[in-house]
Amino acid sequence: MINEDMYALGAAPNKIREIFAYGLDRKAQIGDDKVFDLSIGNPSVPSPAIVDETIARLAKEGKGTMHAYSMSPGLVEARAAIAENLNKRFNQNYSAANLYLTAGASSAICIAIKAVVLPGEELIAITPYFPEYKTWASNAGAVTVEVPARTSDFQLDIPAIEAAITPKTAAIVINSPNNPVGSVYSDENLKQLADLLRAKNAELGRTIYLISDEPYRELVYDGLVPAWVPDLYEATFVCYSWSKSFSLPGERIGYLLVPNTMPDWQRVYTACSGAGRSLGYICDSVLFQKVVAECVDAPVEIEPYDRNRKILLDGLREIGYNVIEPQGAFYMWIEALEPDAEAFCEVCRQHELLLVPSNGFLTQGWTRVGYCCSEETIRGSLKAFKEVYDEYQAR
Ligand code: PLP
Repeated sequence: MINEDMYALGAAPNKIREIFAYGLDRKAQIGDDKVFDLSIGNPSVPSPAIVDETIARLAKEGKGTMHAYSMSPGLVEARAAIAENLNKRFNQNYSAANLYLTAGASSAICIAIKAVVLPGEELIAITPYFPEYKTWASNAGAVTVEVPARTSDFQLDIPAIEAAITPKTAAIVINSPNNPVGSVYSDENLKQLADLLRAKNAELGRTIYLISDEPYRELVYDGLVPAWVPDLYEATFVCYSWSKSFSLPGERIGYLLVPNTMPDWQRVYTACSGAGRSLGYICDSVLFQKVVAECVDAPVEIEPYDRNRKILLDGLREIGYNVIEPQGAFYMWIEALEPDAEAFCEVCRQHELLLVPSNGFLTQGWTRVGYCCSEETIRGSLKAFKEVYDEYQAR
């Protein structure tokens, strides 16, 4: 006998990977330069040189216990270096004890949910959202309650969140800079959320946790500085990874921060350790823990994404698409030219343009365009976007 729920999850199509696999096949058939794959969030900017050099040096120097297990939360020196980096950047007072190193932001979110959302309780997620939140909530026996972002600007819709909070609400997960929209929540918007959560905590006699999913933190444009969310709301987990900032998604290195401002933070941290253990995490990659310990202060290169963003935004608007101007991450949210986003993406595919329909993010009628690819691909894609637009105009 097998677990049928797990079978269903394993058999469920992963839309983005499906499109990506199709793109690879198609490129092999007709040539790399003829397919415009704007589907997956694999960064195209190379990892910082210092990261590559450190990996090579550590691998060469490594002997004896270099590759041994670390303690489950990670090496103290790696956690201390990350804490120091956060203290400098955000004027905090964290230490190694606040950090649990994880296999990317994914594991951090999954652990945080498991630690504070009990079976039968509710996790609020803002649509459109990274769809794995629902899987992780379900793994904790919890229910995901979906609240749409504000349609005018894709910021948090505070009255809608208020209406969705019930005595069973244990946590809310937010993601800024946002995948798939590219929005960055304003300080004001986040303060309103914090005020709402504090009022609800008092009313319901519990703590509603805020899980801040931030793998795109440094990928922001036009000088924008995203708020440090724990400064606004005490019971905030920060889930981070170097997947996007250092272009290391395949290496699985990130962290869960349990700030010392969180009520009862040491007990919460211990529950996170238990959650990690129950989910089978032994420790994060030790090689990459050491890499991050040495390179955590390295600057993040955003110019190539910013260039792509501007070319795409101007090009799509000139053609006539309704586009949400992204402030961060490396995705653009464009309105499909028909209500059925899947059908629209199918038409795009016929023009060798590979996009992700919004259904994959629990929303109808939009499409995610990833611009973490080469500038050449972005420029080439605009011709295909124009052909698609003209085809719809002619209908
Ligand atoms: N959260 C968001 C919003 C993402 O877009 C991604 C990856 O694309 C993740 C989490 C997971 O990233 P990772 O586990 O590689 O850090």
